[in-house]
Amino acid sequence: MNYSEFINAYARHPHYKSPTGNHLHACSWQTEAPLRMLLNNLDTEVAENPEELIVYGGTGQAARDPEALKEIIRSLLDLKENESLLVQSGKAVGVVRTHAEAPRVLIANSNLVPAWATWQHFEELKKRGLIMYGQMTAGSWIYIGTQGILQGTYETFAACGRKYFNGDTRHKLLVSGGLGGMGGAQPLAATLAGYTFLGVDVDPKRIEKRIVTRYIDKMTYDYEEAKSIIQNAKIKGEAISVGLVGNIGDILEKLLHDNIIPDALTDQTSAHDPLNGYVPAGLTLQEAIALRKSDAEEYKRRSLKSMARHVNFMLEMKAKGSKVFDYGNNLREFARQGGEKRAFEYQGFVPEFIRPLFCEGKGPFRWVALSGDPEDIYATDAALMETFPEDSHLTHWLSVARQKVIFQGLPARICWLGMGEREKAGVVFNELVRKGKVKAPIVIGRDHLDCGSVASPNRETEGMKDGSDAISDWPLLNVMANASGGATWISFHHGGGVGIGYSQHAGMVVLADGTDRAERCLRRVLHNDPATGIFRHADAGYEEAIAVRKKYNL
Ligand code: NAD
Repeated sequence: MNYSEFINAYARHPHYKSPTGNHLHACSWQTEAPLRMLLNNLDTEVAENPEELIVYGGTGQAARDPEALKEIIRSLLDLKENESLLVQSGKAVGVVRTHAEAPRVLIANSNLVPAWATWQHFEELKKRGLIMYGQMTAGSWIYIGTQGILQGTYETFAACGRKYFNGDTRHKLLVSGGLGGMGGAQPLAATLAGYTFLGVDVDPKRIEKRIVTRYIDKMTYDYEEAKSIIQNAKIKGEAISVGLVGNIGDILEKLLHDNIIPDALTDQTSAHDPLNGYVPAGLTLQEAIALRKSDAEEYKRRSLKSMARHVNFMLEMKAKGSKVFDYGNNLREFARQGGEKRAFEYQGFVPEFIRPLFCEGKGPFRWVALSGDPEDIYATDAALMETFPEDSHLTHWLSVARQKVIFQGLPARICWLGMGEREKAGVVFNELVRKGKVKAPIVIGRDHLDCGSVASPNRETEGMKDGSDAISDWPLLNVMANASGGATWISFHHGGGVGIGYSQHAGMVVLADGTDRAERCLRRVLHNDPATGIFRHADAGYEEAIAVRKKYNL
């Protein structure tokens, strides 16, 4: 198949689809893998808005524009095993000479020199076509749909239950805003963890998508109906999820008025982007879209003010007993800018629930079957259960995921694995490919939200023990270690999750194609990657990380 035939078959804007099966279109699996994953990120089942190449997280894109995307595809189809493609904010800018165990693609997205790192400057550059927002896994081609965040969200909600409700989440109501690409995982994660759940989104299409993919149970436009369902479910201790169309600020006000105080309260609207993410109260979705275009300054002003009001309601609920935590969208910072001085009076989910996992090198390990065959994922599920039989938590998760998760695009799976475990799993997957037990290679990657790959003072590195929250040497060391170790593609981004100016983070994906070369790369990368997380947390003085460092002789 030549370039034009390939574009016609898989990449006619805005209809993108990854090839499946074990026939190569590129020169080797090392380049076929990023090609398939790039197209998979933009598959309509996967991406929130493929028309604008937006994958998730507000405006997180996979490529800068349709032309740039075509050029990346052309380069990947031609790239040899002694070459690496350089991608600058979603555009192919050159090919460098490397070697077979080097990354095939080196990606840098949305990076700005610190003094210029503001949304305003970013937007000016974006208007001139010079940059794009890569979010975390959108621009690094390892987004796997809402499932990608499902287990992390489940772990977070379950940890909240253990910390605050003695592990019993029945008869507990969890409320959150935002049911988009990531936030859409909340209803299923909440019900899996045992809560009654109310989610609020201004955009009915987003809730409809969660109904179709079975992430949410019910949808309504009517506040009274939602209220009656959640009140009954809470009394009966039923784990049911309801998606209500509305503005989260307005709905929290109504709940307060009706004295319905959620047991747990958080938010996953796209607050990290006050212009193109968050929708201010007092505007319909259509009015908001129009105002964004006609008067960006007025939009931002309203957005910040709305976020201040929204957080104020969250604080009021906290005072009345809700367990409130920030869920990684920088809502507190923009509420503070909008005038809510007490915005940081509740903590983020990382210091609340996740940091102990980071200290063990645990993070979101994900993999994708490039064959497109769900049976390949079931084979990996079985192999993992066999490899870690003592880990009942993992075994339970894998069985639940098989029953409840509908694949979006190429079949994929996620589970949180720690130091030692990631390397083991990688080698096991490579053996499955080598022995022909799966029909094509598997790629292994992760979110940038991980133990060693991110500096984000309002999120992953909030409240570090030694005050090193804003030091971004760590994600740089992580990406350099993964490049040197031989990841198949690597990325360094700015802004993902919390917005321009607030974070820097690194991603990696490594291929298991059943070869000895892949095994060497997998062993190095899947050792080094969590090890950087342990170095980071041990250096900051966390006893747990110091102990793990000793245990693994790091
Ligand atoms: P998204 O843009 O796909 O979805 C955001 C949703 O919020 C949209 O459906 C939008 O309609 C809705 N929304 C916006 N303003 C609203 C309002 N005032 N009231 C009700 N609904 C409103 O984004 P996403 O991928 O779901 O990510 C959500 C946020 O979480 C982003 O800020 C993202 O950066 C952050 N994030 C968090 C994590 C994490 O692990 N906690 C991971 C990735 C992203």
